[in-house]
Amino acid sequence: EEKRPLNFIEQIIEEDLQNTHKREELKFRFPPEPNGYLHIGHASSICLNFGLGEKYNAPVNLRFDDTNPIKEEQEFVDAIKEDVLWLGFKWEKECYASDYFQQLYDWAVEMIKNGDAYVDSQTSEEIAMQKGTPTEPGKESPYRKRSIEENLDLFEKMKNGETPERGHVLRAKIDMESPNMLMRDPVMYRCLHKSHHRTKDNWKIYPMYDWAHGESDFIESISHSFCTLEFLPHRELYNWFIEKVSKEGELKPKQREFARRNVSHTVVSKRKLMQLVEKGVVNSWDDPRMPTISGLRRRGYTPNAIRKFADSIGVGKRENMIDVAHLEFCAREDLNKTAPRVMGVLDPVKLVITNYEEGKEEWLEAENNPEDESAGNREIPFSRELYIEKEDFKESANRKFFRLTLGKEVRLKNAYIIKGEEVVKDSEGNITEIHCTYDPKSKSGSGTEESMRKVKGTLHWVSAKHALETEIRLYDRLFSVENPDGDKEKDFMEFINPESLQVIKGYVEPSLKSAGIQDKFQFQRIGYFCVDKESKEGQPIFNRTVTLRDSWAK
Ligand code: ATP
Ligand code: MG
Ligand code: MG
Repeated sequence: EEKRPLNFIEQIIEEDLQNTHKREELKFRFPPEPNGYLHIGHASSICLNFGLGEKYNAPVNLRFDDTNPIKEEQEFVDAIKEDVLWLGFKWEKECYASDYFQQLYDWAVEMIKNGDAYVDSQTSEEIAMQKGTPTEPGKESPYRKRSIEENLDLFEKMKNGETPERGHVLRAKIDMESPNMLMRDPVMYRCLHKSHHRTKDNWKIYPMYDWAHGESDFIESISHSFCTLEFLPHRELYNWFIEKVSKEGELKPKQREFARRNVSHTVVSKRKLMQLVEKGVVNSWDDPRMPTISGLRRRGYTPNAIRKFADSIGVGKRENMIDVAHLEFCAREDLNKTAPRVMGVLDPVKLVITNYEEGKEEWLEAENNPEDESAGNREIPFSRELYIEKEDFKESANRKFFRLTLGKEVRLKNAYIIKGEEVVKDSEGNITEIHCTYDPKSKSGSGTEESMRKVKGTLHWVSAKHALETEIRLYDRLFSVENPDGDKEKDFMEFINPESLQVIKGYVEPSLKSAGIQDKFQFQRIGYFCVDKESKEGQPIFNRTVTLRDSWAK
């Protein structure tokens, strides 16, 4: 690994190691809410937290922030675990905020007893009205002076489901004049008579994020709790709550903030991704067009490519937009090293070698990966009739066209040098066959003088009678603009690219009949492809991961 300067998060940790923390006290967590599938933005946070764990040899917990039963489901918990593991990380403990509901409740009761919390019986609208503005102080609730006994009694009734859902909330008693709006008696609990995916119907009250998150960090002895920038104003409240439940001398977790990562031509928000699924814009959370980790996996991205991406953009203090081309670059770089080369023709036209014996076939040796000697060789069939790409032929072309034209020579990859002779057309003038002749002495790798002959172009091809016809799914960007969230007047859904998926039939070499789901290949001269999970035995469906070059670059 190359050396790079410490990022600001690492600097914070190094400083704490100098001043306040022992190395063995370092502990981190990744805290997803199980209300959707993880996306490429989460991958940044995963790589940050688990990366710190690796760097400092410190434990990292996977904590499900499951305090909102309305939106959370076991399906999402399972998907999140699968994605973190697939990225190659191991958590120390699998934790759930819901496991702390009793402890949180007990602490809340203590706070009521200490006069630090009270039950407010106003509507949420009334409470909002009293909040004030950043420049004007808020007004105190008429319930703020409730007796401790009454508060304890009501809070217990709330817990038992004996009060209506919108009847009461528990609020921290802090300061209605604080310049930080979040400190103006924030809500700690609301009544929700909803079943939770883990605690079922045990609880009729649920803690709010601010109350649950820091306390969960504290319970797990997390030393550094990293979250995205929008939580910066929450830090004061985070500390206030921890102050209330911790004792003198106990190690307190520290919240620090880093900038959210956005990627161009997509949206990174579970809520918005959920809309794409629910409205049928995509087929599922793991649709290969989705910026979810599961979508990228199905598309053919490797864990390595995603980790490289996250590491290369690093952590920052300011939000910015990363060009999706950079993500694609990371995929290409990794796949170039690992993906076996094969030949596939996506837009075929028939090529007939008129001086090649009819009925004859031969098996030619082809290198699996020039970047990896250990990948070995394979045999591919050659015969009189082949398919090549339509765009690799022009009847007549200028000198810059290094593909096949009439009267000129090109090499067929791993095979022979051929020369264009004539075309056969249908009644409408479309080319149905290209006829050519081959030089029998020019076989690749045969060592003959003819085989060494330099010709300008090399084409990929497949033998028509041996080729496997397959479904190929060509993906393009899901949104046609760089920042679908960037227009205040318009909803992000208005920027969907209607041509984000094109399904075609192509021909691939027969070795691919045995390709398994998730196998990745480079279709030479075209791009990287991955076998989709909907494939049937012997009949692979290919997802295009990325083209070979950035076709968007001008
Ligand atoms: P979303 O809006 O997509 O639901 P979230 O922040 O609410 O995002 P969480 O499940 O709470 O989602 O996120 C888990 C962790 O991942 C949090 O620490 C969060 O800050 C971080 N995270 C989420 N989105 C990004 C992003 N785009 N870039 C970096 N970190 C992110
Ligand atoms: Mg969140
Ligand atoms: Mg969210």
